[in-house]
Amino acid sequence: MKNQYSLLAQIFLWPFLPQYKVNVVNELTPAVLREMEVQHILLDVDCTLKRYDTDLLEDWVLEWLETLEVAGVDVCLLSNGKKSRIGKIADHYDLEYEAMAMKPFPCGCWRVMKRKDWDRKSTAIVGDQLMADVAAGKFAGIKTVHVTPIHPETEPIFTRIKRPLERLVFRFAMVHRGTFEAQKKETAE
Ligand SMILES: [Mg+2]
Repeated sequence: MKNQYSLLAQIFLWPFLPQYKVNVVNELTPAVLREMEVQHILLDVDCTLKRYDTDLLEDWVLEWLETLEVAGVDVCLLSNGKKSRIGKIADHYDLEYEAMAMKPFPCGCWRVMKRKDWDRKSTAIVGDQLMADVAAGKFAGIKTVHVTPIHPETEPIFTRIKRPLERLVFRFAMVHRGTFEAQKKETAE
């Protein structure tokens, strides 16, 4: 899950290289988050929690959010979407949110962290876009988790045109994924 990059990629692609990569958000179980030393999550909405063209969260997402709440992990939705749309989703599921976050700029992350008194070390951003979510997290100085997008074909055209570029970044960066176990073994050796 933790990524490793070549030095060249780290130099040239730093803002777009997530520290961690998961396929779906519920891979981030409380135990995994503990291992990552993450207590607070800034959570992207579109294509991370749900496909773009619906306002409903599926049961497995709600179950995951529930496990985080039970484990005491704080979650705040962080989206570039309009307040009217994101606020409606957040209110429906009784979640906190920050809309119009202006990712890849870090200001949205910082606004939430200041409001909630979260420190950088224990905060992670979780999202599907390298050039918005991951970059915002890198600039904000927090941990970054990239999620494989859910049905990216449902996104508006201006988001979709970034996807081939994102794939290119990943290919160029030669992302190596390992498990925590493998990571631990490596550091022990
Ligand atoms: Mg997204």
